[in-house]
Parts: sequence; structure tokens; C-alpha cells
Amino acid sequence: MSSSINRLTQWKWTGLLSCLLTIAVGSPSQARNYGSIHLLMGTPSSSPDSQNRDDYLMIKPQYALSYNNSKGTANWVSWQLNATWIGTVDRCSSFRPDTTLPPTFVRVVPTDYSLSGFSRGHMTRSRDRSANQTDNCATFLMTNIVPQTQAQNEGPWLELENLSQALALAGKELYIIAGPTGEGATGLKGFKTRIGNDKVTVPTSTWKIIVVLDRPQLRLKGVTTQTRVIAVKMPNEVGIQAKSYKDYLTTVDELEKLTGYDFLSDVPKAVQDVIEARKDGEQVRNPSQF
Ligand code: MN
Ligand code: MN
Repeated sequence: MSSSINRLTQWKWTGLLSCLLTIAVGSPSQARNYGSIHLLMGTPSSSPDSQNRDDYLMIKPQYALSYNNSKGTANWVSWQLNATWIGTVDRCSSFRPDTTLPPTFVRVVPTDYSLSGFSRGHMTRSRDRSANQTDNCATFLMTNIVPQTQAQNEGPWLELENLSQALALAGKELYIIAGPTGEGATGLKGFKTRIGNDKVTVPTSTWKIIVVLDRPQLRLKGVTTQTRVIAVKMPNEVGIQAKSYKDYLTTVDELEKLTGYDFLSDVPKAVQDVIEARKDGEQVRNPSQF
């Protein structure tokens, strides 16, 4: 009896070990979505590792992210958006620290942003998770927040969020990745590189990539060379309230150069090559014209 239990235990450990090895060694040709719908397009970091404090992968029911303990913000946040996520719940009552971070990490709290001249800017938008209170409150965790000027937050960034919502409500399915980049920006209280007793890095810009699926039921296969991809890089500045997101369109290729990440890494390379080189609104070129 006891030896059969031992064998079972051994078998379980062997199985777990080989499973972990598969995750750790996984070749680029393997899907790297960690079983999360929010990472369907692939995981941007080259090797998110739960031991790496500056590339700490967190997968939540509502979104996935790579956290950077030195910066006090995410490196990127990734989420699916379709009509099922959008409802009518009231905004969560308050921002809150993310207590699921390891205890040895610096704990960013809402008041770290107080009087800084920067707003608490959601990466995954509050209204993108408004079907129920639990989902909505998850977007108010400080791991989903970056210091954003009010002008950007309520101007071109919001305009693009509204476009995303309209597309989702029209039946599209979106895969969105957003994050901060650079260090230092001028907010309402002047230029700052860090806020909250130096716990939080103020980004110079924020960026976002939106993959718009017309046929979500095909999942990854629904991504073709015709697929609409909206990529932006917006300066974290005052005075841009009246600007449009269209003033800040860029390509995924440019954002890959900027960040060092490979975005949409689970999309076939030949398709990535086309959709990552095209700005939103540009003509779809026939590959033979290259
Ligand atoms: Mn916002
Ligand atoms: Mn890529």
C-alpha cells in the first residue's frame, strides 16, 4: 500500500517536473499563452519568470501583466475585449494595492500618486471590465496603474479606449497590450522621473497595440495579413487633451524596437511581418508588391 502511494507520488512529481520543464524550455514555435485568453497573441516578454522581480508574470481572470518591481508599474498589461466584458456596474469605489505581489516586493499604494501632478492611469480600462463588480475592481489594483498626465488620460488615450469599446460592442474581439516606456515626464507639478517616495517611475510615453478580430471564433487563425492592428505611442504630456490618437499612430515594428519585446509572438511570422509593419489606415499591400 505505502509503496503504491510512493509510486503515485513519484509519478506526480515527475509529471509536474516535465510540465515545468516544458514551460521553461518552450521553443518559440510553441504557443506561449500560459493558458490565459488574455495572452492569446503570445507573451511579449522573452522569458517571463516568476523569480524575476522586474519581469514578474501575473495572470488574473481579468487580464495578464508583467510587473516591474524596480519601476513600480507593469512592463505591459494584456487583455481580451469583447462585448461580454462590458456591462453597467458602478465604478469600483477605490484604487487599492495589489496584495498578490510577493511580500518582498515594494508595495505601491494609491496615495503614492497623490499630489504628484499625474493621474492614476488604468492600462486595462475600468469600463472594459464592467460586467460585474469583481472584474471592475480588479482594474483598480495598482499593478494595472501607471502615472499618466490628465491630458493624455482624458484626451487621446480615452478616445482610443472609446473606439475599442465601440468595436467590441459591434461584435469584434480585441486583443490589447499596453504599457509605459521611458523615465521622466512633465505633469501638472513639473518634471518628475519618479513619484511616491521614488517608488514609481513616471513614463515618458505610453504605448498600446490593438488587434481587431473580425472572426473571433477562429481564435489565432482569425489573424491574417488583412487584420486591423492599431498601434500608438503617446507622449505623457500636459496640453494634449485635444489631440487625437490618430496623431500618434505608429507600427508594432516600431514598438518592438522601442521596447525590445516581440509582440504577437504566437501569430505566424509571415503574418506578423505584414501586420506589424503597417500603420492603421494604410492600404493593405499585396505581399507580391514588397
Ligand atoms: Mn484612463
Ligand atoms: Mn512580433
